[in-house]
Amino acid sequence: MEAFNLLIDGQMKPGAMTMKITNPATGKILAECPRADERQLNDAIAAAKRAFPAWAKTSHAAKRTMIHAISDALAARLEEFAQLLTSEQGKPLHETKKELNGAVAILKILSNLELEDKVLKDTKTEKVIRHRTPLGVVATITPWNVPMSLLAVKMTSALITGNTVVAKPAPTTPLSSLRFAEICNAHLPAGVFNMITDANDLGDMLTSHPDIAKISFTGSTATGKKIVRSAASSLKRLTLELGGNDAAIVLDDADLKTVAPKLFAGAMANAGQICLAIKRVYVHESQYDELCGELAKLADATIVDDGLKQGTQMGPLQNKMQYDKVRALIEETRHEGNIVAGGTFPEGPGYFIRPTIVRDIDDRARLVREEQFGPVLPVLSYTNIDDVIERVNDTEYGLGATVWSADSDRALSVARQIDSGTVWINTHMMLHPDIPAGGAKESGMGVEMGMEGLAEHTQDHILYIVK
Ligand code: NAD
Repeated sequence: MEAFNLLIDGQMKPGAMTMKITNPATGKILAECPRADERQLNDAIAAAKRAFPAWAKTSHAAKRTMIHAISDALAARLEEFAQLLTSEQGKPLHETKKELNGAVAILKILSNLELEDKVLKDTKTEKVIRHRTPLGVVATITPWNVPMSLLAVKMTSALITGNTVVAKPAPTTPLSSLRFAEICNAHLPAGVFNMITDANDLGDMLTSHPDIAKISFTGSTATGKKIVRSAASSLKRLTLELGGNDAAIVLDDADLKTVAPKLFAGAMANAGQICLAIKRVYVHESQYDELCGELAKLADATIVDDGLKQGTQMGPLQNKMQYDKVRALIEETRHEGNIVAGGTFPEGPGYFIRPTIVRDIDDRARLVREEQFGPVLPVLSYTNIDDVIERVNDTEYGLGATVWSADSDRALSVARQIDSGTVWINTHMMLHPDIPAGGAKESGMGVEMGMEGLAEHTQDHILYIVK
């Protein structure tokens, strides 16, 4: 494999140190990766700061042309990127291709959006215009579950609004991001987009640096809270996309034969390692046994293997820490519910866990209350709709939710009562780059995508004119 480098001030550079990246399906070392030190982090921030004034003045059309060229270049190398992303992240090739095609579309659709001046008041005597100005250097920090599409959202939002960027991918999945940085470097002026990597040790320095104007972060709620503290030093602007514990509510008129495969896919895609994955299911007691049976059948039939192999439907967990966490949660769950499918860990060096369905579990169990971020799904029953809405909302999280019913008006009235950033009815994880998405409560702050997501990368600049 060709060497990987950091991107600092328009140059691909080796790291001050190196670190080894593991393939989670084989447990073998996949590549040696650069690791930045504090000096390289500071160099990247200084380069982005120098590049900012000229980039801020660059026209929207010129910026869009460059970002479209990056999108086209990524699309042309999709196959190569899919192999690399599956090798470092673990999910099957069909899922990495979906993520990469998503990134290609995000780069284009989001950079087509333009925040134009808006006249807020226009009378005989005065005119007031809302103009928006970029903030400066944006730090983008991404997690290991969907590294490429999240990077595409963050960098496009920052760049198209006139900011420059220092990007930091997660330490266990930096390779596809670093390869992508090479593409970006071929199409952007020096310093506009920089990328450094770390071993989970530079985050605090990056987020407390005085020359960072905004932090665009996706990751766990615990890290999000640390970032709020470091950002306080200079009142940096924040967009935080954090953890979730998304519920699915199945109303008593739902057709389970149709709904069960959708619930299963929504819970188990990327081996359950998605912020917006379905993490608990509530079904009316009259359909409880039937749904548990359907989900168990789907789990038993799933082909779990190396994501690079043809036919694999679920890959490994992405890293050892997450594997150990989910495995411990399953062991604990054996005493708290009935495991009707899975609960086993295929032999071998990879971090594999069979998709697991758990029934007869209490609302207070850790599997129900916490974000499992793995292929283990608790199924709970309810009798009364008001009661289930209260149980669903009884959490510090509020990222997404789904409602399933033959009657979409009935489902909508339930959806309106769920405290979360997004609720889908009879579908799941439908996301459009021109529609905002964000979390309620401890699932986040602000939104990404859409005009609203772009606006978070700017400062309102109100211009009063007396005629
Ligand atoms: P994480 O919080 O451990 O790490 C995310 C990123 O933050 C990594 O790049 C990491 O190196 C960096 N980081 C670690 N400590 C830091 C610090 N003190 N300051 C700044 N950066 C620091 O999260 P993870 O385990 O990589 O990802 C899983 C989590 O991400 C889950 O909770 C999941 O729900 C969440 N997530 C949320 C969304 C969303 O859109 N809401 C999307 C994907 C993942």
